[in-house]
Amino acid sequence: MTDHIDRRTTLIGMGAVGLTAAACGSAQVPPPGRKLGYAIVGLGSYATRQIMPQFENCRFSRLTALVSGTPAKLDQYGDQYKIPARNRYSYANFDSVRNNPDVDIVYVILPNALHAEYVVRSARAGKHVMCEKPMAVSSAECLTMINACRQAGRKLMIGYRSRFQPHNMEAIRLARSRAVGKPGLIESEHGFPIGDPTQWRLKRALSGGGSLMDIGIYSLQALRYMSGEEPVSVSATEFTDRSDIRFREVEDRIAFNLLFPSGLIGQGFSSYNSNHNHLRLTGDKGWIDLDPATQYGGQEMRVRIGNDERKVTPPDGPGANQFAGQLDHLSLCVLSNREPIVGGEEGLRDLRIMEAIYRSMKEGRTIRL
Ligand code: NAD
Repeated sequence: MTDHIDRRTTLIGMGAVGLTAAACGSAQVPPPGRKLGYAIVGLGSYATRQIMPQFENCRFSRLTALVSGTPAKLDQYGDQYKIPARNRYSYANFDSVRNNPDVDIVYVILPNALHAEYVVRSARAGKHVMCEKPMAVSSAECLTMINACRQAGRKLMIGYRSRFQPHNMEAIRLARSRAVGKPGLIESEHGFPIGDPTQWRLKRALSGGGSLMDIGIYSLQALRYMSGEEPVSVSATEFTDRSDIRFREVEDRIAFNLLFPSGLIGQGFSSYNSNHNHLRLTGDKGWIDLDPATQYGGQEMRVRIGNDERKVTPPDGPGANQFAGQLDHLSLCVLSNREPIVGGEEGLRDLRIMEAIYRSMKEGRTIRL
């Protein structure tokens, strides 16, 4: 294998702080000790199972407040994370967070259609904001959110955790350094069989759409971050069994093609019917393959250059934690006054492309972007 891959050790070995600082564009890392306080809005599955337990792995971030409409959850998680009663908010009194110096950043982890309202309220309360994907349910909402944060002079970041995941970071570096030659095709498929037909993900008013908005966005992100380019056109095909009780309001499967300015083609797939979690870039000298690519853990990467194929495993050090990396990235950007690598504009770009994918499906034609 070429030294392209051997050099990775240097980068990955930088650890979480090095990675987040480098990604933030900051050469200076503030001394550990100053941890910014996060308020979590919405105590659902992702917040309580994936995000909240990660603060103990952060160097620049700590959990200081909770916001929920369910008093029992505030009690349970407030006690578990030792959050004082004054830092436990309902949705109704949430705006008074503006008077709380314990909170620097608000992290919105609500159903998609509620992101815009809570991002705007957080910015107006003078707080920096992390917002889950998809950023919102329309590009118009994204613009409102970006403007609200800009007017308040506060940072806005989207929870695109894979940008802080070591295998994905190394795959991006290999692709950019042309380790597998000039890329011609990127493929990415994401999906899972969705269950409970009553959940908000299947209600258009709360989700904004089906598998594309929820899980297909990982395929779209991967095509964009692996290419390093913005697509010039998109075409899409949908299949949804409308007699299936789960799919009365939202789509099931979508295949979409993106054309990038260099001639690189991206093939994305999104499904609420089958499991997929894959990313592959093929160049004229070889390929980079991640499977699973963007799960919470267990990423595996294989790289082939010419006749040499091998597994690439970034070291399992402190930098291997995509969640802590994401949380600390925004804290570091606030502390050093830099813009996050996945700010509001990045969320807006995805929403615009997803809107074009939906339009292409509906109108049965290629959409120029
Ligand atoms: P969830 O259903 O488990 O949690 C949603 C929370 O919002 C619940 O606590 C619920 O009580 C609360 N809520 C407030 N108002 C509500 C309303 N009107 N209707 C329904 N729920 C309401 O969902 P989740 O899986 O935690 O997803 C939340 C957000 O996080 C979504 O935007 C989702 O796309 C995102 N997410 C991101 C990842 C990731 O890996 N980055 C993973 C899962 C979810």
